[in-house]
Amino acid sequence: GDRTDTLLQTDDLVKTFGGFTATDEVDFSVEEGELRCLIGPNGAGKSTLLKLITGTLAPTEGSIYYDGHDVTDLEPNERVARGISMKFQVPSVYGDLSVRENARLPIQQFADGEERRRRVQEAIDAAGLTGTEDVDASTLSHGQQQQLEISMAASLEPDLLLLDEPVAGLSVDERAEIADRITTLNEEEGIAFVVIEHDTDFVAEIADNVTVLHKGDIFREGSIGDIESDPAVKRIYLGT
Ligand code: ADP
Ligand code: MG
Repeated sequence: GDRTDTLLQTDDLVKTFGGFTATDEVDFSVEEGELRCLIGPNGAGKSTLLKLITGTLAPTEGSIYYDGHDVTDLEPNERVARGISMKFQVPSVYGDLSVRENARLPIQQFADGEERRRRVQEAIDAAGLTGTEDVDASTLSHGQQQQLEISMAASLEPDLLLLDEPVAGLSVDERAEIADRITTLNEEEGIAFVVIEHDTDFVAEIADNVTVLHKGDIFREGSIGDIESDPAVKRIYLGT
């Protein structure tokens, strides 16, 4: 997409849990319409950084600017209304609710009546789940559940969509479908993405740019080609 302006900027963002620093003075930015992948070893602080951006976690220090405004003190719902939406690492689909009931959950506080019905059905259709509206979500495959979760996050009509490990545990075919979905949302709707994913083939397929997080701070940023060929990046994954 067009990269004219900074959509998101964190400024010296810090998050500590007790004495442990999970986010260490991070200056992370995303341009409008950009598709950025966030990688790094387990425990690097990837999920924590995205939760700080959504407001699910409050920072210990630092600021978050979105669309030119300081959103550091806004509640998660207020950030959703501004255009920030997230699919979390931990599954949030309720297995004992129907596909339609799940799809309705995120939208219900932002739309009602005919508009809500339309957006719920669009979310189901975009996930490739037309015809499954009334079945329990527990009967869906893991790939279908991830598609439903992406739809639920996208149905909030964000300008920035944060996806925490959307293809973990999926088959090659399911991963390709998720890659298509992300690329389509990015190119056709102009949604900027931050996608946490380990698989470098998947990252190479979708990402404009890559940020490597290590020990709570940005270690490298660049194209996937630059990142993959960087021996220092290889070393942090090996833990040497
Ligand atoms: P990643 O997503 O990169 O694997 P996380 O952001 O989940 O890493 O976690 C970063 C570090 O912060 C880890 O060492 C983790 O144990 C710690 N951490 C995350 N959340 C909490 C929490 N709620 N309480 C204590 N420690 C936490
Ligand atoms: Mg994580």
